[in-house]
Parts: sequence; C-alpha cells; structure tokens
Amino acid sequence: MASASVTSLRHSRPGLPVGIRSALTILGFAAAFFVVQRITFSLRFPPFERTTVWTPGSLFFAALLLTPPRRWWPYVIGLSIGVFAAYYGDGAIPAARAMLAVPCFCAAVMPGAWLLRRWGGPLPFGDLRALTAFTLFALVIVPVITAAPVDVGRYLAGADDFWPVAVRSVLCVALGTLIATPALTLTFGNYRGWARSVSWARLGESAVLIVALFVIDHLAFGLDLGAGPALLYAPLPLLIWAAVRFELAGVCWALLLLAFQSTWGAIHGRGPFAGQATADGVLQLQLFLLAISLPLMFLATVIREVVLEVAARRRSEERFRLVVESAPNAILIADTLGQIVLANARSEDIFGYRRNELVGQSIELLVPERYRDDLPADLARFFAMPSTRPMGSGRDLYGCRRDGSEFPIEIGLTLMQTPTGPHVLYAIVDITARKRAEEAQQELAHASRLAMVGELTASIAHEINQPLGAILSNADAAEMMLEAEPPAVDEVRHILSDIRKDDLRANDVIQKLRGLLRKRDFEMQALDLNDIIAEVIVLVRGEARRRGVTVENQFTQNLPPVQCDKVQLQQILLNLFLNGMEAMAVIPGDKRLTIYTTMRENGCAEVGVCDSGPGIAPENLARIFEPFFSTKKAGMGLGLSISRSLVEGHGGRIWAENLPDGGAIFRFTVHTDGRQSEVKSVGRKKSLLGVR
Ligand code: ADP
Repeated sequence: MASASVTSLRHSRPGLPVGIRSALTILGFAAAFFVVQRITFSLRFPPFERTTVWTPGSLFFAALLLTPPRRWWPYVIGLSIGVFAAYYGDGAIPAARAMLAVPCFCAAVMPGAWLLRRWGGPLPFGDLRALTAFTLFALVIVPVITAAPVDVGRYLAGADDFWPVAVRSVLCVALGTLIATPALTLTFGNYRGWARSVSWARLGESAVLIVALFVIDHLAFGLDLGAGPALLYAPLPLLIWAAVRFELAGVCWALLLLAFQSTWGAIHGRGPFAGQATADGVLQLQLFLLAISLPLMFLATVIREVVLEVAARRRSEERFRLVVESAPNAILIADTLGQIVLANARSEDIFGYRRNELVGQSIELLVPERYRDDLPADLARFFAMPSTRPMGSGRDLYGCRRDGSEFPIEIGLTLMQTPTGPHVLYAIVDITARKRAEEAQQELAHASRLAMVGELTASIAHEINQPLGAILSNADAAEMMLEAEPPAVDEVRHILSDIRKDDLRANDVIQKLRGLLRKRDFEMQALDLNDIIAEVIVLVRGEARRRGVTVENQFTQNLPPVQCDKVQLQQILLNLFLNGMEAMAVIPGDKRLTIYTTMRENGCAEVGVCDSGPGIAPENLARIFEPFFSTKKAGMGLGLSISRSLVEGHGGRIWAENLPDGGAIFRFTVHTDGRQSEVKSVGRKKSLLGVR
C-alpha cells in the first residue's frame, strides 16, 4: 500500500486533475503510514512503547526524496492523518502526544530530503558521498529531532530511566530511517527500470535469496537452538550475497527482514537476545543491527561504484576498439620503446603483415632501413614534448611493406596515457594515390607553362637577339677603335661597359626563362610580390612591344612579403598577361595592360591585371574558370582553370569583372607573411583542373 501511494504520486497520470491527485496522495499515504505503524506496534517490547526499528517514518522520507518539494504538502497532511489514526486509542502513547512528533519529524526530514535531492539527484545513495551524507542525517539529525518532544517531556518529568530510554528511542528511529529509507526510495524510484531489465534468472535468484534469508534468520533468531552468539553470524553470507548481487536496495530489504525476524524472536523470548533483561536485549539487538547494517550498506555502494566504473571502462574500451577498427587509416599503438601493442585491420592492408605479426614488434619494422636510426630519437622527442602533431615536420615520410616495397605516408602522433604508462598512437595514411595525382598535376602545370612560353618564343628570341646584336656591333666598333692611331681607349671602355650591360640583359631573360621552364617541386617562400611581377614583365615586354601594348604597373610599395611558390605565381601572372594582350588584339587604338598591387584588410595582398580589350561577354563570365572553356580558335581553355587551382592552392581567390569603361580586370589574392597561409601545401592537393 505504501508503494502504491509513493509511486502513485511520482508517476501519477497527468490526466488526473491536481485536486483529485492530491486527495488520493493524502489518503493513500495516510493509509500506508497507518498500516506500517500498526505492524510496527506488533513488534513493541512490552512494557516499552518503542520497538527496535521504527520504519513508518521512512515512508515519509522516501516519499519526499522521490517528489519535488512543491508536491510535498500532500504527504505532510497524509503523515498527520496517518499518525493520528495509528496512535488513536493507543495505551502507550496518546494520539495527541504522538502528533507532537509530526512537526519535529518534518523539520528533521525535509532539509535532509531537499539536500539529498540536490546533491544525489532523483535517486540518491548512488555513490559513497551521498550515502555518507544520508547516513549522518539518518543516524543523528532525524532521530534526535524526532524523539525530542517525548524525550524532553520525560526529562522535565525527571524520569529515572531517561537516558536508557532516550538512547533506545534514538536508535530505534535511526535504524529505521537508515535501513528502510534507501530500500523504499530505490525500489519505488526505479521500479520501471527494474521491470524492464529483470530476467527469470534474476527473479529466481532473488526468490532463493529471500527464502534462504527467511529460513536462516528464523533458525538464528526465531528458535532456541542454544548456539548462543555464534548464530549472530549465520545470516552474514546471505547478506553479503544481497549486497554483491542486488546492490543497496537488496541489502536494505535483507536487513529489514533480519530486523523484523530478530525483533520478533527477541519479543517471544527466542534467539541470542532472549533471556536477558528486556531493556538490555533491545539495546543489544539495536547495536547488533547497526553494526551489521553500516558496513553492508557501504559495501553494496562501493561494489556498485566499482561495477559501474568497470562497466564504463569496458564500454569506452569497446568504443575505442570500434573506432580504431573502423578507421580508414592504419592505427598502431606503441610503447615508449617503440614496441607495437595494437594494430588495426587497416594496418594489415597497408603494410601486408598480419596483426599478430605486428604486435610485439618494433615500429622500425614498418620503416625503410635508411630511416631506422632516427626513430629512437624521434620517439624520445615525442615523449619529452608530447603533443598531437604530424610526424616528420615537412619531411617526406615512407613506410615499408612486408615485401620490402616503399610507399609515401603521412603520420599523425597522439599521446595516450594508459594504465601501463604513456603510449603513442600512430595514425598512418597511405598517400600513394595522392602523390601520383600531385605529380600528374605538376606535369600538367609544367606542360601549360611550356605552352605559354612557346607562345612567347618569337618575342623572347627577339629579347635575347637584340642585346646579342648590340654586343656584336659594339665589339666591331671597339675593334675598329683599337686599330686607330692612337687607339681610342676611353671610347672602347664605354663600349665594353655597354657590352656588359647587354650581356646581363640577355642573361637576365635566359635565367627567368629557365626558372619558368624548369620542372621543380612546390616550394613555399616569403617573397616580394612586386619583384615577382616585375620579373614576369621582363619576359613579356618583347611580346607587348610586338603587339603594341603598353604595360603599366601601379605597385603599392612596402607590401609585406607574400607566402608563395614563386614559379606558380609567375605562371598565374603570365597567363593573365597573355590573355589580356590577346584580348586587346581585336581592338584598334590604345592597348594598355595595367598591373597593380595593393593590400587588403584580411592580411592578403591583391594583384589586379586590367586590359583595355573588349571585356568578357556577360554570358561567359561565370564559365571562364571552367576547364576547357575557351572562346579562342586555338585555345585549350586550361589557363584560367589552372590559375584558379594554383591561387586556391595558396589559400587565395581569383575572380574576373568587366570594367565600366571597357576591358576586363582579373584579380587574385595571396596571403602575406603577416598571416600564415590557411592551406599551405594545398597547392599540391587541389586538382589543377578544379575537378578531382
Ligand atoms: P584559353 O586562353 O586557352 O582560351 P583560358 O582559360 O586562359 O583559356 O581563358 C578562357 C577564356 O576566358 C578565354 O577563351 C576568353 O574567352 C576568356 N578570357 C580570358 N581572359 C580574358 C580577357 N582578358 N578578356 C576577355 N576574355 C578573356
């Protein structure tokens, strides 16, 4: 009945009106209290007014623990009615006197319930901290305050047996609160969870335990076997069974059964506590119950904590295993000496070893021989400064398969603190396919550069021929001057200086051309943007002259250095210059190519290439960066799409617009040294065609 009332309020159907719900709670709780109190009366020791363990109060405590404070008031009214009804007509304690205990009991229990709800959540006693707080509350505050009105009255009346009776009263309330409150709260607070998870095996086990407890308790406390105090220990194994298998709720119910059976036996003059003065018997029985309850309750809670911890660890280990196994990368875990302790399925695919062949081996096994000597130092460095980071800091790394073949890899290192000490987790990616794609992209970019330079062949040849021709004429002139009498040495000196200048000019063009044509690796550097543009202008100035184009620059001075691959940036510029000059071929009159540089607020430098051509047809504006889009007869349509990949590879952006007065402007951004490029090496990752 008690259970019905407690759960009816906790899980009452929301459909019922609040007034009816409250009335049902008051009546249900009063009835439950009445019944439990009456059962308790049957366990009173004549001529005493108290029993050994007072449980009705726990109904109230458990109800408050399971209910939000704003719904406590029906229980307070139910308690008052229940107390009055139970004590009505009672010879030992008149109902009016018993009613005095109600406010005291409320004052004692309410703060405890409020605090436990706050700290322990809706189901307290879950951990040692909450149980300790509850124990102090149940053993000291609740009994002292509850027993106060009766005890103070007896004290003032000068009762001779005040102290023994007061101690028994306090212990009676304390034991009841301590044992019955968790039993009721945990059972009725979580009965749905139990109903869901219960199995026949579990039900069978609890039935066997209850029967065994009942029988052993009866043998020890309900019969006169004459075995004396030795019988006290008889229920202990079963109580431990309850604590280990059925947690705190189980052990508390087992203790309640023990308390009732032992009290019943003592009242009827049986068991180890019979045959002594009643007062001594009650006190000894109470102390025995207290001594056995406390360790068992704490044991149950400690076991629960350990079980939960082990389960949580198992779950997290299982999750970790699943993540590692399903990872697309090879994952290896090694100890501080580099010995592999775990390898996932993917590492078998990548390295060609079976997992059991890897575990226990040194990580050296997977590294080409020429790198093995560096490994111990690398490992020591990592454990000295363990941070999650890529291995090799910019170096190309290679793995070694079982058949001895090498392949390019990337490795991420992560420190793992395990119970057996620090370990390192290697996440290894086979980047063979990516490397191949990068190489193909570099080939394409190189081919495109060759094609562009091919377009410039005539003008560049002219750029070189012109100083060479000047050198030849100057050399002829110098020869003649030396043959004159007297030789014109000063003139010759001037001519030689001109020859040197012409030679340097030709050499400059050749050097720049070589730089552009060379096949080379991607290399980020901090460089002066204006210088890079000026170098490209040197290469195209002959072509510009041939086409009658005036090249102008409007450079912003003192720009911070840009982070770039010089040749890639020059390739972008060359493409834009040539496109601009080609676009202007169709217009008569003034042909002007203007290149400007400027600084933007976001730490990027901006380059703009404007021409005075016809501009871009509006319908083509959105398509000009697409691969293979060209409006030219012999155009490949790759220049701008490659340029866009290169710019984006530098973390920048490229776009085109038409100018209001005619002509087109192409702008692109590149990060300056002040700000780290977001995707430093993406130049290699991005597809040059803008497609993967
Ligand atoms: P291609 O030069 O081989 O055609 P690009 O990718 O360099 O390939 O250029 C794509 C198209 O963009 C060109 O065919 C042209 O229609 C347009 N375009 C590029 N630059 C200009 C410009 N400065 N003025 C007008 N149209 C341009």
